[in-house]
Amino acid sequence: MPDSYDVIIAGAGPAGAQCARDLAERGYEVVVLETEAEGEFPAQSNKSTGGTFASMMTSFGIPDDTVMHATESVVLESPNEHFVQGQPGFVLDYEAFKEFLVEDGRHKGAEYRFDARVRDPIVEDGDLVGIRYNSDQEVSGEIIIDATGPAAPLAKDLGIANLERKNHAIGIEYFFEGVDLDHPDFADLTDAMMLRLDHRYAPGGYSWIFHTGGDRAKVGICHIQNERYREHATQNRTVDGHLEHWLDTDPRFKNARRVADNQVRGSAHVQFPGSMSTDSFMAIGDTVPSVDPIWGQGIYKCMKSARAAAMTADRCLTRKIDTSAEEMTVYDDLWMDQVAPRQDRRLMMMRLLYLASNERYDRLMQDLNKLPRDILSDINDGNMREIVKLLYPSDLSYLWKYWRGT
Ligand SMILES: Cc1cc2nc3c(=O)[nH]c(=O)nc-3n(C[C@H](O)[C@H](O)[C@H](O)COP(=O)(O)OP(=O)(O)OC[C@H]3O[C@@H](n4cnc5c(N)ncnc54)[C@H](O)[C@@H]3O)c2cc1C
Repeated sequence: MPDSYDVIIAGAGPAGAQCARDLAERGYEVVVLETEAEGEFPAQSNKSTGGTFASMMTSFGIPDDTVMHATESVVLESPNEHFVQGQPGFVLDYEAFKEFLVEDGRHKGAEYRFDARVRDPIVEDGDLVGIRYNSDQEVSGEIIIDATGPAAPLAKDLGIANLERKNHAIGIEYFFEGVDLDHPDFADLTDAMMLRLDHRYAPGGYSWIFHTGGDRAKVGICHIQNERYREHATQNRTVDGHLEHWLDTDPRFKNARRVADNQVRGSAHVQFPGSMSTDSFMAIGDTVPSVDPIWGQGIYKCMKSARAAAMTADRCLTRKIDTSAEEMTVYDDLWMDQVAPRQDRRLMMMRLLYLASNERYDRLMQDLNKLPRDILSDINDGNMREIVKLLYPSDLSYLWKYWRGT
C-alpha cells in the first residue's frame, strides 16, 4: 500500500469534515477523500440549510461568517392557519460552512484529496485494510469511515447500509429576491424560518421559506413518496414541478426573481438505522439515516454523529489498537444515546403527521396556538402523554393507516 493513515474518511460533507477536524485535533493522521474538484467544491453537494441549532454553533466552534442570516422565530403554516414560536435559528451560507470545516480541519493537520471518488473497500484475509478510489488508487488505514451521504459506496459493500427506497426523501431549493415576507394574508416571515404543511404544494412532505435578509429568502420543498404523496401528487409533476406550482400560486412570490445559478437539490433517507459499524468501520452522517424525521434538520445530527465516531476511533486507537466490531459498537451506542435519541418516536410522529389531511393540519395549528411553550417542547421531544392529548377520535383512521403500514 502506498500510503497509510490512522483514519480514512470518504466524503467531505459536514459529517466527514467535522470528523476530520476532531481527529486531527487529537493528533491522529487522517485523510479525507472527496469526489468533487476542489475549485468547484461544494457543487453537486451544495445543499440548503437552516436550523435551530444554536448549541451546534457553540459546541462545534462554527464562526458567524458562515451564517447568512440569524432568525428569531419558527413559523408553522397550514393551508389556512399558522403558529409562531420565538426561537433563534441560523440560515447558513452552506458553501462557506463547508469550506470552513475543510480549512479548519487542514489547519489542525487533516489531509484532503479532492477529485478522489471512493469506489470500494479493500479487504485482505477478512480484514478491512483500506479503500480504492478513482480507477486504481489505494490508501490504507486502521479505521475507515463512510461519510458520503446516501451514496454510501463502502457501507453498501460491507453490508452495513439499510437505506430503503420507500423511505427516500427528495428536496429542492431555490434562492429568491423580491419575496413578500409580510403579506397581509400570511404570518410575518421577517427574520423567520417557515415550514408549511400543505399537500397542494408538498404532497406527503412540507415546503419552506427561510428569510435570509432584506427581501431575499431560500424557498424549497421536500417529500417522501408515501401514501399521501400518491394521493395528492399530480401525475407527471416532478419535485421541481411541485415547487413551480407553489411559486405560481402563492402571492408572496408574485414579484420574486431567482437569484442566478442558485439551486440546491438532494436526498436523504428517513427511517430507523440498522447497524452503523463493523470491524474497523463506521458509517456517519446521512450514510446512516440521520435526518430528523419531522423537520428534516440533518446538519446538527451529522455533526454529532461525526463527533461520536471520532470519540470511538480515539478509544479504539489509544494504547493497544483494537478496531474489532465489538469495540466499534461504542459508536452505535453513542448514536442512539446522543445523536438521535427517541428516533423511533419521531419516526412515528412523522408518519402520522404526513398521513393527516390539510383540514387536520389547520386544526393542529389551532391547537398548538393554545398550548404552553414547555408542552410544545415535550411534544417535539416525543413525549407520548402530550402527543396523545393532541389526538381526536377522528384520528383513528390515521392511526389505523399507520399501524397497517408499519
Ligand atoms: C434540499 C435539501 C435541503 C435541506 N435542508 C436542510 C435544513 O434546512 N437543515 C438541515 O439541518 N439539514 C437540511 N438538509 C439535510 C442536510 O443537508 C444533510 O443532512 C447533510 O448535508 C448531510 O451531511 P453529510 O456530511 O452526511 O452528507 P453530504 O452533505 O451529502 O456530504 C457527502 C459528501 O461526500 C461526497 N461524496 C459522495 N460520494 C462520494 C464518493 N464516492 N467518494 C468521495 N466523496 C463522495 C459528496 O460530494 C459530499 O461532499 C437538507 C438536504 C437537502 C437535500
